Amino acid sequence: MTRVLVVEDDPEIGRLLRRNLTELGHVVTVATEGGAGLALAVTDEPQVVLLDLGLPDIGGQRVLEMLRGVSSVPVIIITAQDDDVSVVRALDAGADDFLTKPFGTEQLAARMRAVLRRTEPGQRPTQEVRIGELLIEPAARTVLMADNPVDLSRKEYDLLWVLATRLGEVVTKRELLAEVWQLPFGGGDRTVDVHLSWLRRKLGETAAEPRYLQTVRGVGVRLVDPGTEH
Ligand code: CA
Repeated sequence: MTRVLVVEDDPEIGRLLRRNLTELGHVVTVATEGGAGLALAVTDEPQVVLLDLGLPDIGGQRVLEMLRGVSSVPVIIITAQDDDVSVVRALDAGADDFLTKPFGTEQLAARMRAVLRRTEPGQRPTQEVRIGELLIEPAARTVLMADNPVDLSRKEYDLLWVLATRLGEVVTKRELLAEVWQLPFGGGDRTVDVHLSWLRRKLGETAAEPRYLQTVRGVGVRLVDPGTEH
């Protein structure tokens, strides 16, 4: 079962996609305008977005660009415009795949499985990780600091997890963008900085007096056990 958001203004195609995907056991939301689709992509946290390029208000290309500023959700472009230029532009802007209308449900389902395989973190780790007073429980995605729960957003948790799996190692912002935001082409140092500062605050430290999160200027950041650092 996958939560799917369809952004498509053609009511017939929207209905067809809703029916076929629901029959496959997915939970489907349909938006008929770009603006509404963008809002739902953020609030509903779909696992896949099917995005039409030709939309009445905000074009699909623009929706995609705005969406990529805030979300790494897999996006499959569905387009009647079979010109390479718009498809290439969409892929450059962060779309994961595309389908040219008309397409069959089997083909769509296969593309959805493929993008989910590429973007889901696979087997979820279950082994808990203890670093000083910090305890990360990946099965439940919870974090404790000195036995007190730390309330992290999804991205903050992912960020911490990537750093924890590479304990003591400097991880570059580019690597973090690729691993946490699935944005391998960079373009968002600021995104990393902002989330790092939130994470830092929630772990109870400041940039001036770091304990667990050590910034290496111009390179990246590493997670350390402050008890073993000198
Ligand atoms: Ca359209």
